[in-house]
Amino acid sequence: MRRLIITDSCVGCTRCIPYCPSGAISIGKDRKAHIDRYKCIECAVCFNNANCPVSAIELEELGWPRSVREVFATVYKEHKETNVPGRGTEEMKTNDVTGRFKPGEIGFSIDMGRPGVGVDLKDAEKVTMALARLGVEFEPLNPLTFLMSDKRTGKLRDDVLNERVHSCIPEFKIREDQFPQVFEALQKVSKEINTVFSPGLCVKTNPDGTVPILRYLDQKKIFYRPNGKTNVGLGKPAAKF
Ligand code: SF4
Ligand code: SF4
Repeated sequence: MRRLIITDSCVGCTRCIPYCPSGAISIGKDRKAHIDRYKCIECAVCFNNANCPVSAIELEELGWPRSVREVFATVYKEHKETNVPGRGTEEMKTNDVTGRFKPGEIGFSIDMGRPGVGVDLKDAEKVTMALARLGVEFEPLNPLTFLMSDKRTGKLRDDVLNERVHSCIPEFKIREDQFPQVFEALQKVSKEINTVFSPGLCVKTNPDGTVPILRYLDQKKIFYRPNGKTNVGLGKPAAKF
């Protein structure tokens, strides 16, 4: 679906402006609302919530590749563009069932962009390519992985590189000994991109209750916030993992 304001019927009341999480709506010299097509992440919040008094906000069909914006802004349904729901992280949160991350491995999720900030997929590609050079294993059930034309290099499809999305989450896993290299690569690439990002790590605790990696983070004086997650009663890891 494509979101736009029909300027002919708009009366310039400004009601829709604060609803836009991307600051994409402004009133033009013609005193009507306009959408900045670059900033708009196709979330439909303006259409669904602003309650335009003259129904000037309408939906039209969105074509590829712009439809990718809607995929990353609508996290609860499976999309034909990526074949997976949401933006990622489900795999990390369900490790007690899937067993994807084993002792000695670290699962990563790099939360890129936020409401009001957004992320250009060109910037997401800088991150995935920097990680791919270190031989990380990208999570296949992640919409960003689906958009890669080459998972070995982390290169995204050329036709989506001009798209901007609400947020996206490169997900991958590494061996514990790769951690310093990966962390340094993330610190370096963070200076080359124009958005915010926050790395999330998933590790299994050691038998003595200590948590791998924390000593390294402490040594480097890197701020972290430990979280535990227990999905009670969800069972053992499936045999295929
Ligand atoms: S709410 Fe409707 S009429 Fe008011 S500025 Fe937005 S589009 Fe125009
Ligand atoms: S679809 Fe979302 S980002 Fe685009 S103008 Fe409407 S509220 Fe803003």
